Amino acid sequence: MARYTGPVCKLCRREGTKLFLKGDRCTSGKCALDRRATAPGQHGAANKKMKEYGVHFREKQKTKRYYGVLEKQFKNYYEEADRREGMTGENLIKLIERRLDNVVYRMGMAESRKEARQLVLHEHFTLNGKKVNVPSIIVSAGDVVAVKENFRGSAKCKALAEALQTKNAPKWLDVDKTALSAKVVALPAREDVDFDFNEQLIVELYSK
Ligand code: SF4
Repeated sequence: MARYTGPVCKLCRREGTKLFLKGDRCTSGKCALDRRATAPGQHGAANKKMKEYGVHFREKQKTKRYYGVLEKQFKNYYEEADRREGMTGENLIKLIERRLDNVVYRMGMAESRKEARQLVLHEHFTLNGKKVNVPSIIVSAGDVVAVKENFRGSAKCKALAEALQTKNAPKWLDVDKTALSAKVVALPAREDVDFDFNEQLIVELYSK
């Protein structure tokens, strides 16, 4: 499946906010946005006032990029969110949060969503005891995501497991830091998502 392969820090500079796409680097003094908080390109530093459409468009781009989802799939999530009961914008965020790669990242077994996606693609995780290699699977309450047995002995897994010990998962995931697994104890609520989205702007953009 197609995915963005360009420089990711440029995406944060474009959106004017940290999207946390590079793991530890994002919270270190090496963050590109901390060092140069202007949009990329020749006129990036110009203080341009965004038109209404631009504000809506940027919010959609920011959300998509935060989760590492491309346009077509993001639109599909929107349509699914719109079909469900409740607020479409909230439904959208709650739905994307349930992606398997996001769960691996949220449980603390990857430094970034991009890394989580790679780990899932390489079949290093199981879902309810079965091998899985589709990052976009939507988990349900009661599901258990765990590191696959044959990955546990690797240096990579040991490093991730060590980092896991210092991390805190959201309350909708019950993480067993010894077993390297996470149970989805509830579906994520909007307030569980610790990022500043204005999902209503996305709804307004797609409903135009
Ligand atoms: Fe964004 Fe992280 Fe790069 Fe900073 S280091 S610009 S937060 S991806």
